[in-house]
Amino acid sequence: MTSLALPTVAASTLPIEGSAERWPIRRVYCVGRNYADHAREMGSDPDREPPFFFSKPADAVYAASEGIPAGGGDAASSGAAGATGVAPGTTPYPPRTEELHHEVELVVAIGGDRELVDLDPAAALDAVWGYTVGIDLTRRDRQAVAKSSGRPWDLAKGFDASGPVGALVPAERLGHPAAARIHLEVNGATRQDGDLDQQIWSVPEIVAELSREIALRPGDLIFTGTPAGVGPLERGDAVRATIEGVASLEVRVV
Ligand code: MN
Repeated sequence: MTSLALPTVAASTLPIEGSAERWPIRRVYCVGRNYADHAREMGSDPDREPPFFFSKPADAVYAASEGIPAGGGDAASSGAAGATGVAPGTTPYPPRTEELHHEVELVVAIGGDRELVDLDPAAALDAVWGYTVGIDLTRRDRQAVAKSSGRPWDLAKGFDASGPVGALVPAERLGHPAAARIHLEVNGATRQDGDLDQQIWSVPEIVAELSREIALRPGDLIFTGTPAGVGPLERGDAVRATIEGVASLEVRVV
């Protein structure tokens, strides 16, 4: 038995709708500017610039209904929220920003039992195990500074608890939704309201394209981009994100 020099934190896991099993998260990728209206609201031209990828740390993603246990890691096996934890049904307003933005997104879960490289779009859906809804929380002011100075976005996108998601729904039960209303409400008022059929890159195209950049593996999650209407959140806001017929989540900003 190998002896480790430090205590390890268990990999974050997500609940699966209608199952006692949990989903172990490996890596988390995100697609930028995958809806034309959102690309335009961010000041770019979707006809000239294709979507692109970035990532979040795996332990930044958590089930909104469960929160994150103190010390991080697996909500299924650890204790209650503490100084560094997140209480169930909440998302913390992160430090060092005055402009926290919501981005509601379809989240794709990669399954199977092997490494996936150079997938053909026609075969890419075979790699998709399931789906849920997520919020790609963004420190927009930090992102603007990063963009204007030509620096990486990592801390604008990959801060702690930056990816609350719903429970995963297996494609076996759901199928592969190519069209469905995707929307986000803050305190009962609609902020974002689009449809999955507005995606520039469809799910099979995203999975195939990403598999040409890196080797995908079971446990990988992909946030597939947000429709127009992104905007600021304040402490106390009640946020509800829904993809109709797929999943929903609710969090209060604390
Ligand atoms: Mn996004």
